[in-house]
Amino acid sequence: MKIKSVIFDNDNTLYRVPKELYEAVINNMDKLIADYLNISKEKASIERKNCYAFNNCRSTGYGFYLKYGFNVKKFNERTYLNIAFNRYLKKDYKLVKLLENISQRKIILTNNPKVFAEKIVSVLGIKKFFNEIFGEEDYNFNLKPKLEPYHVSLNFLKEPSENILMVEDTLENLLTAKKLGIKTALITNKKIDNVDFCLKDIYELEEFL
Ligand SMILES: [Mg+2]
Repeated sequence: MKIKSVIFDNDNTLYRVPKELYEAVINNMDKLIADYLNISKEKASIERKNCYAFNNCRSTGYGFYLKYGFNVKKFNERTYLNIAFNRYLKKDYKLVKLLENISQRKIILTNNPKVFAEKIVSVLGIKKFFNEIFGEEDYNFNLKPKLEPYHVSLNFLKEPSENILMVEDTLENLLTAKKLGIKTALITNKKIDNVDFCLKDIYELEEFL
């Protein structure tokens, strides 16, 4: 196999999202929504879910913009970035070693804000290994498994899709990749037939390149 580029998902692919980190982001969102709409935190929590589901957009910040006109960049600064990242994550030396050994070009394709992914990979100590990081705003909030993120990646990498491998923990995101001819690797404990490879965790990736 002549894989020349690897597209990585971020959350639960390059690292396991700590429950406390997830909760800290959610807590920031509920607080912002409560303050802005002048409602209780309990009601804000329900409204957060409504925003995420709004028009099936699956982005709380974008849903909050669509419903109330709140600027997405400001939303991200006060929620995703208003986090003591070092409290939840630390440098991952094993991952650094793995990425050092992978000579292929590497990009990140996340459904979260790009700035959030950048912070995380900085704390993990792996930012320098990626040629580019793409987030929700780079595909106008048309998120995986929709086609736009894949087209953004292919336009950037400018090589035949059969020379590209995508690594993900979400099967449906790999099914779009597969339709486009991209090779697929799923992080899973199960045996799944309709992807090219199954990995127990990211550290197994080297065996498949
Ligand atoms: Mg993921």
